[in-house]
Parts: sequence; C-alpha cells; structure tokens
Amino acid sequence: MSNTVIPSGTFKSHGLASIPFWAVHAACGLVFFVDFSWGAVALCFALFFARMFGITAGYHRYFSHRSFKTGRGFQFFLALLGTMSVQKGVLWWASNHRVHHKYSDLEGDLHSPSRDGFWHSHVGWILSPDHEETHYDRIPDLAKYPELRWLNEHFLVPPVALAVALFAIGGASWLVWGFFVSTTLLWHATFTINSLSHVYGSRRYDTTDTSRNNVWLALLTMGEGWHNNHHHYMNSVRQGFFWWEVDMTFYILTALSWVGVTWDLIKPPARLLETEIAGQPVAAAE
Ligand SMILES: [Zn+2]
Ligand SMILES: [Zn+2]
Repeated sequence: MSNTVIPSGTFKSHGLASIPFWAVHAACGLVFFVDFSWGAVALCFALFFARMFGITAGYHRYFSHRSFKTGRGFQFFLALLGTMSVQKGVLWWASNHRVHHKYSDLEGDLHSPSRDGFWHSHVGWILSPDHEETHYDRIPDLAKYPELRWLNEHFLVPPVALAVALFAIGGASWLVWGFFVSTTLLWHATFTINSLSHVYGSRRYDTTDTSRNNVWLALLTMGEGWHNNHHHYMNSVRQGFFWWEVDMTFYILTALSWVGVTWDLIKPPARLLETEIAGQPVAAAE
C-alpha cells in the first residue's frame, strides 16, 4: 500500500496565544525533579484513557455526529470529560469537526495534511487565531442547552480544576504525571487522527478524501484510527466495522446501552459489511 507523500508544511507557533500550549509541553520535563512512583504513571494513563473517552465518545461520536442518544445528565458528563482534555470547548470542537467532514481535503477543510502540510493538520490549525470561532449556526441541536454553552465559553475551568485537585491530593508528582504528561500525550494522540490518519494506513472505501484505516492509531485512540471507515459512513457510532477492528469506545458505549445510559446506537448498514465479507472490492486500489 503506497501512502500519499505529504509536505511537512511551514511550522507556525502562532505567537503569544500558544504559550500555554507549549508551556504544558515544557512542564513535562519536571518528571526529572518530582518523586517517581508507578502509581503516578498509572494515574497518567488512567487520565489519558478517561479523557480520550470524553473526546471519542463525547466530542466526536456524540456531539459532532450524534451517532447515539443519551440523557441530558450523561450528555453533560461527556462534555465535561472532553473539556478536561484541554481541546477547547465542546461546541467549538463539534462545529469545527462538522466543517472537516463537509470539506475533507478540499478547500475549506481546517486540517488537511495533503493541502496544508503535516504540521498544520497536527497542531497548527488548533493554535491558529483564524479558527477560534464557535460556529453556532452549524450546531443548533447542541447550542440550545445553556449548560453546554456555559461549558463551551469557560472551557479552561474544568482542566484547571483538575490540575488543582491533582496537586492538592497527590502533590507535585500527581500534577506533573497526571496533568502535564498525560495531557501532552492525549493532545498528540488525538491530533494524529487529523494528521497521520489522513496519511498512513489502508483505504477500504474509495472516499473523496485521503482518510486511512490504521490499527495502531485505533489502539492509541480507542477506535478512532478506523478513519477511512468513519469518513465513508460518519453517522455510525461504530468505527471498527468488523470484529477484528478493535474499537474500545464502541464497546464501552454498547455496555452502557445494556444498562440504559445510551440508546439508539447507529450501526453501519449491512450492505457495507456484506460487501467486505464476500471479498468483493469496494475501494479503488491505491
Ligand atoms: Zn468525524
Ligand atoms: Zn478526517
């Protein structure tokens, strides 16, 4: 499978507004100055995956794509968990993600590695002052909830509260491992779906964009690496279409449906799955 050769693009730091972003990276160096414990490392990964679930199940599959239903309480919980990942507000994220699907790899796409280079698609676009706006007109279904609008406008409150709580409970070690290291890993793991998932991997479906399926990215991001599947049928809550396509987010949302927390999970239509199982070509070979 050949992969698209992409330009690295010009790396822009975007000035003063991006200082907190780089400061969190720099603070990871404090691991050499705080007490080490395996418990702190475990906390780092626990908060990584908990907040990753907030992004994949919440920001992405629920708020951006409405691929399942839930109650107002769990809706707020998902928004809160996603907000703790420090990727701006839930309504900002969902409204901009809908733009990505509308224009994927065409003019108007906010983060296309084939058009604007790797660095822009990975971090440049999220730091850019050009993309600070929440497009409320694209998310009328979500903007009607005052609690979500509040959270969207005060998106730094939950992560700062998390950092303060970690420091209060576990001291500097918990703050550094549980917040700075965990958040930096979480950022770059999430950002691979905008950058690497449009560059490395296989293409089952001949979509008009450059999306790929990549098992390594799927494991890292709890199922988001099946990105070619997702671009082909974005309404599906399930992004790993087959049993061998590991999709932790879907498994957890399914388990939650058994106890009534989620319902009306949208699955990929049978015709997409039957074609693959019959071994018929469904995508133009690269
Ligand atoms: Zn999407
Ligand atoms: Zn994409």
